[in-house]
Amino acid sequence: MAKKLLDFSKLCVHTLTNKSWNLRECIENYSAAGVHGITIWRNVLEGQNLKECKQILDDHNMMVSGLARGGFFPSTEISKRKEAIDDNLLAIEQSAAVGAPVLVLVCGADGKQSLEKSRDQIQEGILKILPQAKAAGVKLAIEPLHPMYAGDRSAINTLAQANDMAEEINSDFLGVAIDVYHLWWDDNLEKEIKRCGKNKNLMAFHICDWNVPTNDFLNDRGLMGDGCINIPKIRGWVEETGFDGFYEVEIFSNKYWAINQNDYLEKIKKAYLNYT
Ligand code: ZN
Repeated sequence: MAKKLLDFSKLCVHTLTNKSWNLRECIENYSAAGVHGITIWRNVLEGQNLKECKQILDDHNMMVSGLARGGFFPSTEISKRKEAIDDNLLAIEQSAAVGAPVLVLVCGADGKQSLEKSRDQIQEGILKILPQAKAAGVKLAIEPLHPMYAGDRSAINTLAQANDMAEEINSDFLGVAIDVYHLWWDDNLEKEIKRCGKNKNLMAFHICDWNVPTNDFLNDRGLMGDGCINIPKIRGWVEETGFDGFYEVEIFSNKYWAINQNDYLEKIKKAYLNYT
């Protein structure tokens, strides 16, 4: 079990957690609240001058933990697989431009083909973009998704599968992202966290909670402490690997998106100290 967190030095918030805020609002509000880690979702970069974005980040002493998200490699159609590669190359450029050291990959799946086939295409896609990631100094992190998304969002559903792929490709620029929402149920989790730590493949740690009951399998994530995930236990395993990155609050929630976002940010800070 991890020691209680006493300050916000490792707290990072995903921009999509505060969906109604644009990038500038996220930066200004996080910074004013004493939060200096940010993971940027690409929707808030649309139509923006990336140099200016980087300047605003620097002016507010914000550290970018990652960019979300690349991936979505598999498709039964060649043209869509090619489009995905182009989009991932753009995401790598965007990551470098805003100073994101890691691009998180939601790897994708196509329900019209087998999971094995989708996984082959994911591996193929990663191998295609890896040289550009390396050249740009951006690391790629495979984020396993809960099996309920295996039909359309990701054919990689356990940390073991992500570790397998990262180890097979074996590059300093490829690792894994751990999201407690997707992995909390897995009885191999401790073992697999140790494994990715040992291989220096642990690149990001995402936190939120699993509501019981869950009303919507995309947009009903809980705030830490709302649900049934033992986050301090998992954080303890993560810390034992020597991981020294941010603890990233990533919550998609119709409930919390509907409230005042500054009040919500204060709730996040409280939950971070008490239930993370
Ligand atoms: Zn995540």
